[in-house]
Amino acid sequence: RNDQLEQWDRENFFHPSTHLGQFARGEAPQPVIKTAKGCHITDRDGTRLLDAFAGLYCVNVGYGRPEIAEAIAEQAKELAYYHAYVGHGTEASITLAKMVLDRAPAGMSKVYFGLGGSDANETNIKLVWYYNNILGRPEKKKIISRWRGYHGSGLMTGSLTGLATFHNKFDLPLSPILHTAAPYYLRRPDQSMSEAAFVAYCVSELEAMIEAEGADTIAAFIGEPLMGTGGIVPPPAGYWPAIQEVLDRHDILLIADEVVTGFGRLGSMFGSDHYGMRPDLITIAKGLTSAYAPLSGSIVGEKMWKVLEQGTDENGPIGHGWTYSAHPIGAAAGIANLKLIDALNLVQAAGTTGAYLNAALKDAVGGHAHVGEVRGEGMIAAVEFMEDPGKGTFFDPSKTIGARVSAELLRDGVIARAMPQGDILGFAPPFCLTEAEADEIAGKTAKAVAAVLG
Ligand code: PLP
Repeated sequence: RNDQLEQWDRENFFHPSTHLGQFARGEAPQPVIKTAKGCHITDRDGTRLLDAFAGLYCVNVGYGRPEIAEAIAEQAKELAYYHAYVGHGTEASITLAKMVLDRAPAGMSKVYFGLGGSDANETNIKLVWYYNNILGRPEKKKIISRWRGYHGSGLMTGSLTGLATFHNKFDLPLSPILHTAAPYYLRRPDQSMSEAAFVAYCVSELEAMIEAEGADTIAAFIGEPLMGTGGIVPPPAGYWPAIQEVLDRHDILLIADEVVTGFGRLGSMFGSDHYGMRPDLITIAKGLTSAYAPLSGSIVGEKMWKVLEQGTDENGPIGHGWTYSAHPIGAAAGIANLKLIDALNLVQAAGTTGAYLNAALKDAVGGHAHVGEVRGEGMIAAVEFMEDPGKGTFFDPSKTIGARVSAELLRDGVIARAMPQGDILGFAPPFCLTEAEADEIAGKTAKAVAAVLG
């Protein structure tokens, strides 16, 4: 055992999305995680935790799957790397592209592989601009995203993200990015609004933005089928078909960011199918490999591909590629992961055990005086705390209710995520969660809520 590890951590490791002040205060950021199996992770001191957030909602098949580990090892021995530029492929990357397209919603044509969700969304925006350039309309460039949307933390993708923490002190968002209303019924502008009236409100906000900016300046709309990091917010009924109709009418492309929802989390292979979206581009990452190796993708629809394929040859290759695009080790992990999802019926399991978890959480805390809503779909759920749900009032953020409940729950051995904006506790366990584990999550959540809120 290396007793200096915590000190090395403090002294050397710049952790992402972390309060930077804790380095100066000399605090070790978090326990060092050493092993994991199924839905549990274990730290160096042997403390075992039920990971009800699957890492960052990504370890969908669960930890410690030997099938994926062995596929990675075999690939590393046979061919650890070759690039994908100028038409090169490897057995793994070509096979995975076929497997992804076989599972994708109708009308998809090609998959461009990257490393993570942020770079895949970066790719999407470049492809949208390239497409409009080929069509001779480079001014059709603005991208509409939504407040509370999460699409990554690069310069472009952090701009697409509609959360203040990702903009503040970085001079974001960049100018071609606009944000419209989030489909967040609990936070509707007027408590008396019905769900249908709220959908009409979201649509009218979008229409007004398109009108004000001019449809000929707007290239694409990007959204997660079910909003994730912004609060785990399923869309109200009819939201996506209504948005889709507006986009079609104005010749605006739809990018479905399925980094969280892709490959089963909602109990359907893709969230686009689940909610009746017809995207032109789909972003995939996390669940593509269940995070056993970094890999992402942009699935390109036929409409865009037909234009893109005309546009490159006269000017040489498209000027967009990463050294690690379609990395064979990520591709091998992806193949083994998708095979496992099929063999164990994990998409179906996400639907059924996820419904069980959602119901258990509702039973456990839905009636609490400060729980505004328990919401979710498939294997994702959120509990949102409110000062007074009847009056529609939220807690003062300085009370950090969500973070305190999450800390209490952690002390009791369960990891749930305090979502970054609002007092919202998020759950997105691996799809192999058992009903007994779902009961444990719900029971301990009730205890944690009672400890913080009475
Ligand atoms: N898009 C969505 C919907 C996400 O949830 C995330 C990450 O959580 C990303 C994009 C960014 O992915 P990455 O962190 O792999 O860059």
